[in-house]
Amino acid sequence: MSAAGPSQGAKAPSGGSAAGAAAKRGGAVLQTHDLVRTFGGFVATDHVNLVVEPGARHALIGPNGAGKTTLINLLTGYLEPSAGRVELLGQDVTTMAQHERCRQGLVRTFQINQLFADMTVLESVAMAVSEQKGLGTRWWKPLAGHGEVVDQAAAILERLKLLPDAYERTRNLAYGRQRLIEIALALAMRPKVLLLDEPAAGVPTSESQELFETIAELPREVTIVLIEHDMNLVFRFAERISVLVSGAILVEGDPDMIAQHPRVKEVYLGESHG
Ligand code: ADP
Ligand code: MG
Repeated sequence: MSAAGPSQGAKAPSGGSAAGAAAKRGGAVLQTHDLVRTFGGFVATDHVNLVVEPGARHALIGPNGAGKTTLINLLTGYLEPSAGRVELLGQDVTTMAQHERCRQGLVRTFQINQLFADMTVLESVAMAVSEQKGLGTRWWKPLAGHGEVVDQAAAILERLKLLPDAYERTRNLAYGRQRLIEIALALAMRPKVLLLDEPAAGVPTSESQELFETIAELPREVTIVLIEHDMNLVFRFAERISVLVSGAILVEGDPDMIAQHPRVKEVYLGESHG
C-alpha cells in the first residue's frame, strides 16, 4: 500500500481512481482508513478505505449482507470499529459519540417516531430546528415568539417540496412523502454529510422516483452518501459508486465504469440467480 505523503503542490500523474482519491487526501469530507468490524469471527467490514469528496453524490451498493449498513453504522458511531479510523472534515472522529458527530455535521436519517407522527409536518420539522438551535422542544407553545424557527422549517419544507403538506399530520402522508419528512428532520440538523440507508425501502415505485429526484436536487453544500438497491435509481443519482462485497470495497468508480465492470456484473448476476 502506498501511503500518501504530505500533499504535493503539483498534480501527480495518477494511474487510477484509487490513486486519484489518495492524492486528494485531506480534501475529503468523510474518509475511513482501513476500517474493520468483526462480529465474533465474522468480518462484516474488511479494511475499508472510503473517500467521500465534498458535494459528492456517492452510492454504496452491494448484495445483501455485504456490510453496507454496518459501514454506515461505523461512520455514525452507532458501532465501534474493531480497527481503523474514521475522519470527518479532516478530524479523527473514530471514538466520538454519535450526537457529537451529528453536531459536527454527519447526519443520518431516523424514522419518524410516534410523537412526530401525531404532529403536523411543519411542527415536526420546526421542533427539530428548535432542538438544533438549542431552544428546546417546547417552542410551539409560544409559537409567535419563534418566527425564525418556523421560517427555517418552512424553508426546509420548501426545499423538499413538502410545503403543500405543512399543516397535514405527518401520519396522513403517503409513504414516499413521509420519507421526505425524515430527510427534512435530518436537514434541520444542518448536515454537511447526509447518510441515507435505503431511503426508498418500502416506498412504492410510483413514489420512489420523485423521492430520488428531490434528494438529487439538494444543495451541493450537503454531501450525500446513500445505500440503494434499485440500480435504476442508483445510476441516475450517483456520480460515484463504491461496490461492497463481503465487507470489502470490490470496485469504485463512476456509474458508467461500474455498469460495465465484469466483476460487478458477476456479483449481481450471482445475487439475482439466488
Ligand atoms: P447490508 O446492509 O449490506 O445488507 P449489513 O451491514 O446489515 O449488510 O450486514 C453485514 C453482515 O454483518 C451480515 O452478514 C450481518 O448478518 C452481519 N451483522 C450485521 N450486524 C451484526 C450484528 N450486530 N451482530 C452480528 N452480525 C451482524
Ligand atoms: Mg442494509
